[in-house]
Amino acid sequence: MLTITALPAFNDNYIWLLQDSATQQCAAVDPGDAKPVLQWLKDNPGWQLTDILITHHHHDHTGGIGTLKQATGARVHGPGQETIDGVDHPLADLQQLQVLDRTFTVYHVPGHTLGHIVYYLPGEQPLLFSGDTLFLAGCGRLFEGTPAQMYHSLQRLAALPATTLVYCTHEYSLSNLKFAAAVEPDNTAVSARLEKVATLREQGHISLPSTLADELATNPFLRCNEQQVVTSAARESGQLPVGPVEVFAAIRAWKDRF
Ligand code: ZN
Ligand code: FE
Repeated sequence: MLTITALPAFNDNYIWLLQDSATQQCAAVDPGDAKPVLQWLKDNPGWQLTDILITHHHHDHTGGIGTLKQATGARVHGPGQETIDGVDHPLADLQQLQVLDRTFTVYHVPGHTLGHIVYYLPGEQPLLFSGDTLFLAGCGRLFEGTPAQMYHSLQRLAALPATTLVYCTHEYSLSNLKFAAAVEPDNTAVSARLEKVATLREQGHISLPSTLADELATNPFLRCNEQQVVTSAARESGQLPVGPVEVFAAIRAWKDRF
């Protein structure tokens, strides 16, 4: 069993620290800042950071690589289609990756950036480290890719087992759920989740991880075939969308100005 700890960074980032207690080895996902990881290692003597997993090139995900590599000698895995200083091991779609004696699968999911990858660990309790692609009740902005690319990327992730725990990089859950409630005012799973996450955040708790089952029920970007999502997309874009990619494009553009 891996233990997974969220190390907060910047305003709303989480650096996920995967710990294997059998070996006292750990791996960090998207360390945008080295400090929280170095502090954890200091507070937990005997542990070794062996690997760093990078999802995409944005600085809030990569800024800590240099310092951490120098301090720990960790091996750095990252997207083969992006140029990132310090990456030792470029990865491609469907590549298998050995980290902490486990075998992760890499998915190339263009949209937020063109080279963005995510890390999936199958098993009794599957885990997905989704970076800035799939958020709790949301998805990343389209900085580089097209709506069609992001739509298909999200569809691939949606096809993973519903029990998969989803660890994304940002605490955007509350604002995402407010948007989801605007898209689907009649979706009771959305309103219940909004209430739950609002309470968690008021108490200073993290809202993550999510599960794929909860995403399928509440994430409007995974629900582009639902009638109320289609209707909202048509209203906001001023034209009737043809097919789920156009629905996705319309609600993604709406979210940008929400
Ligand atoms: Zn990003
Ligand atoms: Fe980010």
